[in-house]
Amino acid sequence: MSAVTGGHHDVIVLGLGSMGSAAARQLAARGLSVLGLERFWPAHDQGSGHGETRIVRQSYFEGAAYVPLLRRAYEGWHELQETSGRDILTLCGGLYVGDPESKIFKGSRLAAEAHDLPHEVLDAEQIRARFPAMDPADHAFGLYEDNAGFVRPEQTILANLDLAARHGAELRYDEPARSWRGTPGGGVEVVTDQGTYGADRLVIAAGAWAPGLLADLGLALRVERQVVGWFTPDFDAVPYERWTSEELPVYIEETDLNRDIYGFPMVDGPAGGMKLAFFNTFDPADPDTVDRTVTEVEIEATRTRAQQLFPHLTGPVVKSLTCLYTTSSDRDFIVGAMPGSPQVTVASVCSGHGFKFVPVIGEILADLVVSDATAHDIALFDPARPSLQPSARPS
Ligand SMILES: Cc1cc2nc3c(=O)[nH]c(=O)nc-3n(C[C@H](O)[C@H](O)[C@H](O)COP(=O)(O)OP(=O)(O)OC[C@H]3O[C@@H](n4cnc5c(N)ncnc54)[C@H](O)[C@@H]3O)c2cc1C
Repeated sequence: MSAVTGGHHDVIVLGLGSMGSAAARQLAARGLSVLGLERFWPAHDQGSGHGETRIVRQSYFEGAAYVPLLRRAYEGWHELQETSGRDILTLCGGLYVGDPESKIFKGSRLAAEAHDLPHEVLDAEQIRARFPAMDPADHAFGLYEDNAGFVRPEQTILANLDLAARHGAELRYDEPARSWRGTPGGGVEVVTDQGTYGADRLVIAAGAWAPGLLADLGLALRVERQVVGWFTPDFDAVPYERWTSEELPVYIEETDLNRDIYGFPMVDGPAGGMKLAFFNTFDPADPDTVDRTVTEVEIEATRTRAQQLFPHLTGPVVKSLTCLYTTSSDRDFIVGAMPGSPQVTVASVCSGHGFKFVPVIGEILADLVVSDATAHDIALFDPARPSLQPSARPS
């Protein structure tokens, strides 16, 4: 006997953050009846998809296999910007700096060469000449690509939610899914404090809450707290224009095995600060109890490290925040049918590098729900791959 009180839909999307909002939009656009459930509010700051900017880049040191998906994602970014009329994508170039054997520099170069992506290799002197705010180590090199920049995460999520609703999706906020189960007929039921909803299919895109919801699978996933700061440069030493997206690219840097940092040019005026962070602070966290305040020690550690590349980053700190990564044991994403529950599609697209894929992941999730297959190559993201088994631990 069904206990459904909240109606039946073709598909429920659990989590309307970065990936879930894109999936809801794509599914609704394909004519499915979509129910979206979100524990917080639209484009909130409690998960992984907030903080004003996200790097997009194509010469992908994480693996050349990601490049075809990035090409498709870029088409989606242009389309989303056009369709929504929002200011979402800025291509201001990207620079990946490190010593010649570093993962960041060498990996980016390998991906660029493997896929014929336009790029330039710059030595330290050329980097200083071109980007006067930067002062890399003498032996560092940079892989520069024009076709990189940043997207606006909150605008992205709001745009996708808006488009999902316009296509008829029912989106419910402040309504966490408490549990879900497969039904004997091959569908699902999802329970919230407001009711029980039935559907043929379920997409779980719960970000940092995924490990809890998918606990039965015992996937090797770890939630990590990250710290981000906005810093002010000394404009007397290097004038404001040199720090803006007109003249400075997004960047990632790792030299002599120092901890990798990444950041953005100044994008919101001289008082807005320049956002940057360690790529990973490896700080295990629980999304329900994580400490969201940033300490002065954390901020000063970030600044001290960043000054290795930007010596004139000496002004006041404008603001700071925390954000969550959900990191898999091999740092590749998890996208596909849940082992043992083919009516459930899982998307854990993070490990600190997922946002730039939002449009193509939305498309892939819709493909998988509608036809159990996608033309995109997602072999790398198989939820049943051995490296995700409980014995594997994030390295
Ligand atoms: C500091 C930081 C910097 C980053 N920088 C970059 C970058 O430059 N480039 C890049 O490509 N990527 C970057 N990322 C990674 C990227 O932001 C993530 O990969 C992406 O946001 C993950 O999306 P998600 O949908 O899995 O999670 P989220 O966007 O957090 O969405 C999950 C949603 O599920 C909801 N939810 C959870 N449980 C429930 C429930 N039980 N019921 C209802 N709703 C639920 C949550 O409230 C949330 O809204 C960064 C991440 C951080 C934290």
